[in-house]
Amino acid sequence: MATPLSHLAVPLALATALGPDIAPPGLLALALACAVLPDVDALGMWLGIPYEHPFGHRGFTHSLPFAAALAGAGSLLAPQVGAEPLTAFGVLFVSAASHGLLDAMTNGGLGVALFSPFSQRRSFLPWRVIEVSPLRPSVLFSRRGLRVLGSEMRWVWAPCGAVALLGWALRAMAGQA
Ligand SMILES: [Zn+2]
Repeated sequence: MATPLSHLAVPLALATALGPDIAPPGLLALALACAVLPDVDALGMWLGIPYEHPFGHRGFTHSLPFAAALAGAGSLLAPQVGAEPLTAFGVLFVSAASHGLLDAMTNGGLGVALFSPFSQRRSFLPWRVIEVSPLRPSVLFSRRGLRVLGSEMRWVWAPCGAVALLGWALRAMAGQA
């Protein structure tokens, strides 16, 4: 995985770019949950499910079909959070799907089963630029941890910040910010 904190960058950027009228705080909260939920499969490690198993780490919960199902379920709550259902689906899908895609850009671990349950093939994207996060949080406070955080700043937070800023600027120019 990338560190759990960095998975939050995508929904935060998306909500900032779209603005509170389109992506209200309730939708952002759902999106943040969708972005970190795929790592629930790490619990399977404690239960003895092997990494390469379809329900192992980076298996089914990291796939695009799972992201679509999660977004579909989450968008049922759109009226409660004051969002349009289609917008809610889009924001939640991008947030959930970004998790597997970001993991597929890391330089360690097994690949991601992006198309599970239709294919259990584990793959990486062609750009494996993100330093893989150690599974033990204590390692984050070491030199290796600094390298991980540095690479996430550069490859996750910086581009997400740019998207957020661009969206905000466009809204400001249109007089909606
Ligand atoms: Zn993950």
